[in-house]
Amino acid sequence: MRLIPLPAFQDNYLWFLHDGRRALVVDPGDAQPVLQALQREALTLEAILVTHHHPDHVGGVDAVRDATGAKVCGPAREKIPGPLTRLEEGDRITALGLEFRVIDVPGHTSGHIAYYCEDIDGRPLVFCGDTLFSGGCGRLFEGTPVQMHESLEKLAALPGSTRVCCTHEYTLSNLKFARAVEPGNLQLVNYTKRCEELRAQGLPTLPSTIETERQVNPFLRTRESDVVQAARGHDAATAPDEVSVFATLRQWKNGFK
Ligand SMILES: [Zn+2]
Ligand SMILES: [Zn+2]
Repeated sequence: MRLIPLPAFQDNYLWFLHDGRRALVVDPGDAQPVLQALQREALTLEAILVTHHHPDHVGGVDAVRDATGAKVCGPAREKIPGPLTRLEEGDRITALGLEFRVIDVPGHTSGHIAYYCEDIDGRPLVFCGDTLFSGGCGRLFEGTPVQMHESLEKLAALPGSTRVCCTHEYTLSNLKFARAVEPGNLQLVNYTKRCEELRAQGLPTLPSTIETERQVNPFLRTRESDVVQAARGHDAATAPDEVSVFATLRQWKNGFK
């Protein structure tokens, strides 16, 4: 299996997975890069997986479906133009002979879903859209801190080796914020160095792994004492529970430059 992040717009990746014959694509906000990739490698598109309804994720769905006849799967509780297989927590779908399990991850949008496959060439993988980013998480456009915190906990509980395929190249700016929260986190410093080298060569920092995110991502580290202290240093009214710490971090990051 080949996993390719097709760049689109400013900083989106359209995740493209193929076995040399059949392909699937996640969140085709733009049709062009997908159709070009299919043509270049002479592949048949089997499925379009959608994580949530934002235009940079669904803008190319109709054009790609019309051109390929691929089936479209997406969240049960969001407004996405059909025909569509509507999915929610626990549902399973098969594409390219692989089984994906659907995880509800509301917060960024109210019906956001993620797709988890436990074995692609021996390793797990999750397509998590705009929920978990490397070093950060999506903004809360429709959901609450309670929902987003719970969604991130579900993703953080996946096996450490799980490849994290998120939709935006936000890593370096996320890590800048992460260092403001946890300046003493050595793994974070080392990871930043690695990501800076990749970006300097024009390469994606993704996919990340769940294990890495547990070590460097402040939004998954809301029970670490350094993170709790930093949140309370930013907003003294922050209660010491994880959701309050998460809410303060999210607020802080919204205004962070
Ligand atoms: Zn979004
Ligand atoms: Zn997005």
